[in-house]
Amino acid sequence: MDSDILVSHARTAAITQGATGHLRIDLAALGRNYRKLVSMLAPARAGAVVKADAYGLGAERVAKALYGQGCRHFFVAQFVEAARLRPVLARDAQVFVLNGLQPGNEIACAEMDIVPVLNSLAQWQQWSAAARALRRCLPAVLQFDTGMSRLGFPPEERAELATALRNGTNIEVLFIMSHLASADETEGQQNSDQLAEMSCIADEFPGFDMSFANSGGVFLGKAYHGVLARPGIALYGGAPSAGRANPMEPVVSLDVAVVQTRTVSPGTKIGYGGAHVAQREMRLATISAGYADGLPRCLSDRGAVYYEGTRLPIVGRVSMDSITVDISALPEGALTLGSLVEVLGPHQTLEDIARDADTISYEILTGLGDRYHRQYR
Ligand SMILES: *Cc1c(COP(=O)(O)O)cnc(C)c1O
Repeated sequence: MDSDILVSHARTAAITQGATGHLRIDLAALGRNYRKLVSMLAPARAGAVVKADAYGLGAERVAKALYGQGCRHFFVAQFVEAARLRPVLARDAQVFVLNGLQPGNEIACAEMDIVPVLNSLAQWQQWSAAARALRRCLPAVLQFDTGMSRLGFPPEERAELATALRNGTNIEVLFIMSHLASADETEGQQNSDQLAEMSCIADEFPGFDMSFANSGGVFLGKAYHGVLARPGIALYGGAPSAGRANPMEPVVSLDVAVVQTRTVSPGTKIGYGGAHVAQREMRLATISAGYADGLPRCLSDRGAVYYEGTRLPIVGRVSMDSITVDISALPEGALTLGSLVEVLGPHQTLEDIARDADTISYEILTGLGDRYHRQYR
């Protein structure tokens, strides 16, 4: 090896050894989650939503692992994500852009073999114009709004779209789709309202395959499956349905290093703003991750980390780069400089930390910062 490479290896190793947060991503567990969804969905197929860097876990690694499990349909939100992912996947994989076609992207999209999800007549016309310019037929997915008012052809554009399709077109529609607004809620009316609207659309646009379910939708039953589901969070170990036991296997664990310990006497202020005042003698540890690492500031005085199963409550405010926790429950000397505490793992799930932070698992995952040493298993 030449000396430049040696130096660069040594540097990488030093940074890795010096990392104070260790994020482990279990690609085998990801694969088992995918296969579980596949078996629930059969004969419908399971795609994978890998937007936002596969919910923060690394789109390239995740997509390649899922390709190895037989996944061929990959959904991202934005063209830039598709442009990064497309070249690293085999030709028989398809990459879809959920947020649709942006003016100016059409030719690049076509040439890179990226499939836009068309969300409006304007996008339909843009894509059709690109097909004319390239003198070929271009593939697309059509998304319909069935009650979320976010993306997709609105009801008032459907008649004109149906006419355009009847008159023959240079767009090859691969399938039609819609998205559920409340798929994680198994009770309530919105899912069945959206399903009813989707079956009207299927009547208006006969002969097309349909994609409907996200993770939650997979668990709503066959009626929601169509031919292709688009799970995201469930693949990554998040709970697909609210208020029910999570059937998915955790994929992510996170350990963070202690960077200082101390004992404080009653009356001592802890952290920014002196927001927490010790009521008794306390032993504290400062750990090396904060809101810049995706541990939300609203965990201040609320959340906890764990050490060998013992809960260590967060005291005072979460800082940008560190959090102070109460380690009084541990034997003295149990934690020292460099000890690792569990942020996500066997004692604290994504759902636990999301609940403490008043948010959802999606936001925790996608927020995990890039200062952690990432290890793929
Ligand atoms: C994000 C997204 C999904 C995946 O949703 P999960 O709840 O993570 O399974 C599926 N479809 C669309 C249109 C999305 O935007």
